[in-house]
Amino acid sequence: MMKKIFGIFSFCLVYFAFLLAAIKLFLRNWQSGLLFTLWIIFSSIIIFIMCCSKCTAKAKCSHVLPGLIGKIRPCKSAKKYGIKEFTAILIGFGSITGVSQLILFDNPILTIIFWSQIVTGGLFIILKICPTCENKCCPISEKLKKDGSDTQISSIK
Ligand code: SF4
Repeated sequence: MMKKIFGIFSFCLVYFAFLLAAIKLFLRNWQSGLLFTLWIIFSSIIIFIMCCSKCTAKAKCSHVLPGLIGKIRPCKSAKKYGIKEFTAILIGFGSITGVSQLILFDNPILTIIFWSQIVTGGLFIILKICPTCENKCCPISEKLKKDGSDTQISSIK
């Protein structure tokens, strides 16, 4: 239960940060704001379809929505994530984060709020979700398990 709360909380933190940038752009120029919002949705869906469809734990996804989107495409094999998946994540989330930072650049307060949400969301995922995630395709969660996840597993349960 706690894992799901952490999962939904971290997911919302990261996406509310992107939403902050989208709203700021929307208020400046609604066409650009709409385009950026569509890009966030499009690239997120591509990442979820590419990575979450292979996930061996998607039925129990702590973030809920990615697991549901991942179910659209049946899992053919449980091979480890490779260059395709990491490139999609890098380009997708990299471009969303980069453009968000450009949009918020002239406002230090919003920039601080944005990065606080991204860093807090990321830390929650790395410390509270990945160590107990049963996704056998993800080398990051496998690595975190070997690096002493036992204490973190017991602290979440
Ligand atoms: S646990 Fe991670 S990889 Fe698996 S469905 Fe959820 S978000 Fe996707």
